[in-house]
Amino acid sequence: MLLEMISAGKSLDRRGAEALALLHRIGSQHASATLASSFGAEDMVLTNLIARHGLPIAIFTLDTGRLPGETYDLIDRVHAHYALPVEVYCPDTRAIESYVRDNGVNAFYRGVELRQSCCAIRKTEPLARALAGRSAWISGQRRAQSATRSAVDIEEIDAVHALPKFNPLADWSEDEVWTYVRAHRVPYNPLHDLGFPSIGCAPCTRAIHPGEDIRAGRWWWESADHKECGLHRRPLRIPVRIEGVPA
Ligand code: SF4
Repeated sequence: MLLEMISAGKSLDRRGAEALALLHRIGSQHASATLASSFGAEDMVLTNLIARHGLPIAIFTLDTGRLPGETYDLIDRVHAHYALPVEVYCPDTRAIESYVRDNGVNAFYRGVELRQSCCAIRKTEPLARALAGRSAWISGQRRAQSATRSAVDIEEIDAVHALPKFNPLADWSEDEVWTYVRAHRVPYNPLHDLGFPSIGCAPCTRAIHPGEDIRAGRWWWESADHKECGLHRRPLRIPVRIEGVPA
């Protein structure tokens, strides 16, 4: 048991050091890099690394207007815990008013197109504003989270926003994320303890049942291959690394 704990500790140190080295490189090579945080456990790991090591990386979040109360509380807790500014981007009010007038308040349940329109207004458009003028962005996506994320690489080119995009935890397991969170007493969303491994907008997120896919609780009424909101569209290409040449 003791040997297992020591081995887990060493593995955690190595994984944390790898992610930290990448964040250091991003901070030194991209003057206005930013972390897109939805305040999920992965984002909290990255926030902890950025805050503890004083990295020059900004943090922003998208307030869709439909987030769970627990997520709003966590935004304030993170701000207080790390004394870090978190930039909050909101949707365009007129676009929401028009959508609701035409379709109703909870139209996203009626079909993929209406759901994607809501995500476009509440998430995709504010994301484009958040990334305007940035030199790179960072996300907490992991390959193991879902079928739609199985091809996520640690370094990608985001073709939609024409920016380098980094996913430092792409090859982390869920266990590694939670081992880090506990070891470093990282603040996290209490909904994770209630069966919500992935947390988005309140009306579009439910708790999962034992054995279900991590993202099964997101847009649960849709088939698995639609389960993205447009924030993480696949890149055009993956940067080519040449042996012996620093990336
Ligand atoms: S997750 Fe649901 S409420 Fe949030 S933007 Fe998408 S459709 Fe709208």
